[in-house]
Amino acid sequence: MEPILADPDGGNVKVVVRVRKFIKRELERDAPCLIQMDPHTQQTTLSPPPIDYTDRNSRKTHEEKSFTFDKSFWSHSEEDPHYSPQSSIYASFGEEFLDHNFDGYHTCIFAYGQTGSGKSYTMMGTPSEPGLIPRTCEGLFQRIEAEEHTNITYNVHVSYFEVYNEHVRDLLTPRTTPPTYLKIRESKQDGIYIQNLTDSPVKSFAEIEKIMKTGDANRTTASTKMNDTSSRSHAVFTLTLKQIQHDLSADSTIERLARMRLVDLAGSERANRTEATGQRLREGGNINQSLTTLGRVIAALADPKRQRNQVRGAQNERKRRAEVVPYRDSVLTWLLKDSLGGNSKTAMVACISPTDYEETLSTLRYADQAK
Ligand code: ADP
Repeated sequence: MEPILADPDGGNVKVVVRVRKFIKRELERDAPCLIQMDPHTQQTTLSPPPIDYTDRNSRKTHEEKSFTFDKSFWSHSEEDPHYSPQSSIYASFGEEFLDHNFDGYHTCIFAYGQTGSGKSYTMMGTPSEPGLIPRTCEGLFQRIEAEEHTNITYNVHVSYFEVYNEHVRDLLTPRTTPPTYLKIRESKQDGIYIQNLTDSPVKSFAEIEKIMKTGDANRTTASTKMNDTSSRSHAVFTLTLKQIQHDLSADSTIERLARMRLVDLAGSERANRTEATGQRLREGGNINQSLTTLGRVIAALADPKRQRNQVRGAQNERKRRAEVVPYRDSVLTWLLKDSLGGNSKTAMVACISPTDYEETLSTLRYADQAK
């Protein structure tokens, strides 16, 4: 598989789209496939659904819409010659991002989309079909093991937290009632960090697998108790790689630290709903705010001109405000600030269902503005 190469214009943001395959419920109702992907142009086309005259909403006129992203992953039918298995996502940019980490830079990969569009499948996957997170962890240790005899010592740490309603919860500690929320701090030495967050040292992929299981179990326990909060929280899996290079002749060491953030975002459909009240309304507002802010941050980073203007310093205050990347507008973007922008590489996987016109259009538009 051809890697997605860095944009020569300096854009450090990749936006890809992945359509998942039909699930049982869609097969049972014989839902039509509304998505086509052209593997040569990477164009994704969304067709209008057939008109159902018994459904008032369906009588709205829908149009065919096309979007072009860095890559389109067709995971809809295994029989298709263009079918993209789990491994293709990692092969397309996971490996390239690991190279960047070994060079000492941060990376960040998001899965965006409505609930049920394949975000967790893409990021975590299943035991038989592992996703981007286990593949990245495995790739990381394979590289470290291959480098065993050099003068570099590698330290790897893992943390796993979720942002729910603008609060941070550690996914590697048991649930408490009431929930324990962690504080976000900032210091000159460490930048922005989460106080008391578990950051486990790991020596092998097997150790990470255990940690992933604990985190996922904590996320799922919380969601069954609290009516599926997992689709309303952002889960952030972080690998921190520290490389300590020993220069024996000069009796000195050089340290390089890189973070890999792998993020399963809250379901984007909540961001569009207006009928919610009370707790749901607050959640919806917070999800909306963080996804909108993330979209604006990525769009700002994807636009090299905007980045250059920031570096040069803008002419006047109004212009400066418009140019500034709005990290502070949500907890998620604030926490990920060090992994977005600068020399970091960012990728967004827009996950879509093959059958849902409205939600898919909204996801494709979001992804399009992030390009
Ligand atoms: P989300 O995390 O966006 O809510 P999931 O990852 O849970 O969605 O996916 C919904 C369902 O679709 C799950 O049963 C998952 O296993 C299945 N699924 C998603 N993407 C794929 C894919 N590319 N191939 C096969 N099954 C998939």
